[in-house]
Amino acid sequence: MLQTAHLGRLAHLQGDPNRVHDALEVIEDGALLLDANGVIVLAGAREAILKAAPLANRVDHGAAWLLPGLVDGHVHFPQFYATAAAGTGLLDWLNRSIFPAEKALADPGAAAPLASRFVRRLLRSGTTTAAVFGSQFLPANAALFEAAAVGGLRLIAGATLMDHGAPEDLLQTPEQAYAQCKQLIEEYAAQPLLHYAVTPRFALSCSEAMLETCGALLKEFPQVYLHTHINESPGEIEAVGRTFPWARHYLDVYARFGLLGERTILAHSIHSGAPELTHMAEARCAVCHCPGSNLFLGSGLFPLRAHQRHGLRVAVGTDVGAGTHFSVWNELSECYKVQQLQGHTLGVAELLYLGTLGGAEALGLAAQTGNFAPGKSGDFIVLATEGDAYLAERLRRCDSLEDQLFCLIHLAGPCHMKAVYAGGREVSA
Ligand SMILES: [Zn+2]
Repeated sequence: MLQTAHLGRLAHLQGDPNRVHDALEVIEDGALLLDANGVIVLAGAREAILKAAPLANRVDHGAAWLLPGLVDGHVHFPQFYATAAAGTGLLDWLNRSIFPAEKALADPGAAAPLASRFVRRLLRSGTTTAAVFGSQFLPANAALFEAAAVGGLRLIAGATLMDHGAPEDLLQTPEQAYAQCKQLIEEYAAQPLLHYAVTPRFALSCSEAMLETCGALLKEFPQVYLHTHINESPGEIEAVGRTFPWARHYLDVYARFGLLGERTILAHSIHSGAPELTHMAEARCAVCHCPGSNLFLGSGLFPLRAHQRHGLRVAVGTDVGAGTHFSVWNELSECYKVQQLQGHTLGVAELLYLGTLGGAEALGLAAQTGNFAPGKSGDFIVLATEGDAYLAERLRRCDSLEDQLFCLIHLAGPCHMKAVYAGGREVSA
């Protein structure tokens, strides 16, 4: 079978740098060997790989970096054109800017091209795996799954579910929600690259009957995910307390309806208390940190260390439209700054981990993607600084390749991603 060797400067994580010594592997003259199906055979020193596979096709990326495809743990498809929207905080922003924008996807004629633009935008930004809040409308969600399958994006997505607290035309009854989820699960969840997530927007937009329906779907379809928001803003948390007076805390609302488990992705978790973190960890939930969004909405500073101390898996998400860019790469720089404000300095290994292998582990997809281990999908980005004279000069002043990578996290972006590959196929063209 014909193999392909991609030549370049390799960097990836071999494990969680907080647990594994020297987890960041950087190889200056590296090669990534893929089989004919785009599966990674080997990654390592160029000379050794070319010796082992002398007949392999060669794609020489010159001095470019080859890095694992990025994992976006939380992003909203219907908010594609709702970035940089007005609002004084989460609840005001939702009512004023977001709900009106999400209505546009009721029109299937508008939703289908939007889905393909959304998927292409993620891929071009280096994201090869994403957990996505879908539309309220079934045809728009079908278009999203189709666009991901065609484009080559590994996707976890589901219909955004609400039955109150939003404009009438964005609401579904629990029965309608069940029917849409079941149809999408049966149609798409068994396809390669595609996964379904039951997606109640948050506790405030779901009645107890809707949350019960979500729990019932998880029981009926154990392979699906649960994706929702938690503890994003103080105003939201207060309102949850008023709406669910029996709940000891926000997480209790989701726990009561059986929504917590290993495939549960909780976005934000900025203000979660110790009892909630303990409960999340016992239930083996994953958390998604969205630093750009948290800064934009003024939601707060994510306590990464507290989550790590509780042993929680943490992904990073762009949370577009509250996030203002589509690239997880840019989010890593925001993530660094949010931790700096709390007195924690993240190293380059930890940053890259959060955007790649850590994200894949959080989403339960680390057997498929996240680093260059043999057997995983050939998901990688080609990051090149040629044509950027400032960046090239800045990198020349670095003492090591690790320093260069640190600079790139803060100074590079999607415009430096020369190519993005998913499953060994270029998907950024
Ligand atoms: Zn969100």
